[in-house]
Amino acid sequence: MLEQLRYLVQLQKLQNRKTHLLRSRDEAPRKIAEIEKEYQQVEAEYLLKKAELDHARKMHRNLEQEVGDLESRIRRSKQRMSEVKTNKEYQAMLKEIEELKKEINRKEDQMLEIMENIDAFSGEIKSQEKHVEACKRKVEADKEELTAHSAQVDEQLAQIEALQEKVREKLEAGILRRCDSLLQRPGGIAVAAVEAGVCQVCHLNIPPQKFIELQRDETIFNCPHCHRFMYWPGHEDYLVFDEELEEV
Ligand SMILES: [Zn+2]
Repeated sequence: MLEQLRYLVQLQKLQNRKTHLLRSRDEAPRKIAEIEKEYQQVEAEYLLKKAELDHARKMHRNLEQEVGDLESRIRRSKQRMSEVKTNKEYQAMLKEIEELKKEINRKEDQMLEIMENIDAFSGEIKSQEKHVEACKRKVEADKEELTAHSAQVDEQLAQIEALQEKVREKLEAGILRRCDSLLQRPGGIAVAAVEAGVCQVCHLNIPPQKFIELQRDETIFNCPHCHRFMYWPGHEDYLVFDEELEEV
């Protein structure tokens, strides 16, 4: 077994964990924004309905006021009837009162219609209100959970970085330098398994002679295509298990 190669595999395994954790942490703000947006939609729908209900109530009040005004006009007209001199004037006033009564009827019909709407609406709005409240509670709980998760991830990342530091100390300077420059590339992969002669990172074949030499396990090789350090997982020494990493 090449010790340095085993350290490289360990370092890569830790790096993979780190990449995975960073991804899950970076997803949190996006998830929070998503659930907040969903809540805002629910709330906006509710507020719109509530505004409609308020409007209907206002219309109802206005009509009530108008009916009240019409009724007092009728009362005034009736009082004035005792003062009229001619039959023509009297008839005109009767007609006016008749018109006012018709107007009141029309408005009362409108009020009835609005009231029916208000009744139907109120029930709907009440259940919607409950739904909005439930959504709000859920959003808060989800946000709390995601924030807690992020904090947990930060802790785990610090642990992984500490483990990585220990492995790095064991790596020879030249190897570490190459490893770091490979890790800095997109994807953060410095070490590749080679199975059946194929690099498992760039998926290209390595020359058969090179694969044989790799299996001999005498020198550290790099993939001729992607330049990553190669190992053959047929050697059990390079199969690094999670629990071993805790004791690096
Ligand atoms: Zn490769």
